[in-house]
Amino acid sequence: MERLKNLSLEQIRLWVQDIGEPKFRAAQIIKWIYQKRVSTFDEMKNVSVTLRAELTESFSIEKMKPLVILESKYRDAVKFGFLLVESKHMVESVLLIDNDRRTACISSQLGCALGCVFCETAKMGFIRNLTQEEILGQLIGINDYLSSHGDKPVTNIVFMGMGEALSNYSNFISSLSIIMDEEAFNIGGRRITVSTAGVIPSIEKLINEGLNIGLAISLNAYTNSQRDALMPINRSYPIEQLIAIAKKYYDATGRRVTFEYVIIDGETNTKEAVDTLVKLLSGFSCKVNCIPVNPSGTSPVKIPDERSVEFFADQLNKRGITATIRKSKGRDISGACGQLAGKAVL
Ligand code: SF4
Repeated sequence: MERLKNLSLEQIRLWVQDIGEPKFRAAQIIKWIYQKRVSTFDEMKNVSVTLRAELTESFSIEKMKPLVILESKYRDAVKFGFLLVESKHMVESVLLIDNDRRTACISSQLGCALGCVFCETAKMGFIRNLTQEEILGQLIGINDYLSSHGDKPVTNIVFMGMGEALSNYSNFISSLSIIMDEEAFNIGGRRITVSTAGVIPSIEKLINEGLNIGLAISLNAYTNSQRDALMPINRSYPIEQLIAIAKKYYDATGRRVTFEYVIIDGETNTKEAVDTLVKLLSGFSCKVNCIPVNPSGTSPVKIPDERSVEFFADQLNKRGITATIRKSKGRDISGACGQLAGKAVL
């Protein structure tokens, strides 16, 4: 039986048309799946009994179960572990709560092949890409949680969970089209950001999609030798190429690219780092987001104190490079950047 949430909206519309149903039925079905988040066709009350029977015969729509829900004691983050359908694996997602924003940090792969040394997900190795249904299922599960707490649905999305979204390009793009469609999640490009370790050919493709989403590049180092050691992908796509593609992205989309910069004390926050970043990034509109490295299992990296992170960001700002500091949420639930690692549960 086909899984309905792996179909594009266009495929659902065509299926409805092929079985001789009027167009508006497709819109109704899409709303039931993605806005009302039903898990059986019988719940689709305004859909005829005959059509519901046809749907039941052709498709399945059960949801991914949240096996783990960990709420931060600071009330600013919730970490979820969703059991993938017909799988023994769990994928992790995080909800970040900040005033009016409800940001879902979504995973795109089970594990990751890119091997960044500061990252828990990397330790799982690469298991497989998530399907469109599994990417969207995280959003459905988070909206279920919000709704059960009388809260509004997700307002913003960052593809910064487990895995490299741009290495799962086709499922990432097909999920995006459903996330952005007004009959489904209706979240605009300005409220979506994809984070990448720097898969340049996919960034090229993304530029050609003409979507208006934000791009965040994990830079994390100021020399190629240092970045080679932290992020092996740098051997294929070094810093100069990343900066060139970031400029191209800005020129094509008008969206300022963010460089995520993990601060490892004594390594990535030196005076030389400031000087080099100023040289590399001057002259185009971008932002450096400083992220104090998070404690992660057995990782040997040194965690900086608050003052040294502030000092580093200050130095960049004084020299004309916009620098912000990401206040890490969800540290107490291992939901912060670089801390996600889904586990097999059976
Ligand atoms: S930081 Fe991102 S790209 Fe690097 S290993 Fe972790 S999940 Fe993969």
